[in-house]
Amino acid sequence: MNIVIFGPPGAGKGTQSDFIVSKYNLFQLSTGDMLRQEIKNQSEIGLRIEKIINAGNLVSDETVSKLVENIISNKKFESRIIFDGYPRNLHQAKALDELLIKYKQKIDLALNLRTKLETIKKRISGRFSCSKCGKIYNKFFNPPLKIEKCCTENSLVQRNDDNVDIAIKRFKTYEKQTEPVLDYYRKKKLLKEVNGESSIDKTNKEISDIIDLIEG
Ligand SMILES: [Zn+2]
Repeated sequence: MNIVIFGPPGAGKGTQSDFIVSKYNLFQLSTGDMLRQEIKNQSEIGLRIEKIINAGNLVSDETVSKLVENIISNKKFESRIIFDGYPRNLHQAKALDELLIKYKQKIDLALNLRTKLETIKKRISGRFSCSKCGKIYNKFFNPPLKIEKCCTENSLVQRNDDNVDIAIKRFKTYEKQTEPVLDYYRKKKLLKEVNGESSIDKTNKEISDIIDLIEG
């Protein structure tokens, strides 16, 4: 089965993708990772991508499509791909469908981790980490930890890389970009909404139930 997963930044999409990948033995296709990998490998396409990015431009949908096709056409990954962070817009969604048809595959499920901005704000503003051991805590979320103390009396610090204003901006951009894509899958009756507000385990379970039902 091929799955597309959606969720705003901070919804826990990465965690849930990892879970699905290992439970159902899927291949995780993240276009961001693929672009970085090509650059790292200094492949022909990687060198081109590097030039585009260094010039401050966005990598075209066509280039991304090429990379995606490399995976879809690979028998090793046939009908066992989870698309993460792709498609980002309607054009990419249609291009993906065309590619899948070309290799006699399809999208079986589009998952959306519905998460309110309020929740994401809390997740970010409530986050603390221990400066000694690196463990991450959240004063709002499960388990609601007593965060007075970790390794030493004052080793817990609020993470300053977690900026709420930036998160709000990213959330709004994501929503605006993704809504038409969600609608595209909704019309094809492939979209399933999952509650991204509950605990990681509960969300895992909700996703498993959906996939198991489709796999029969
Ligand atoms: Zn600690």
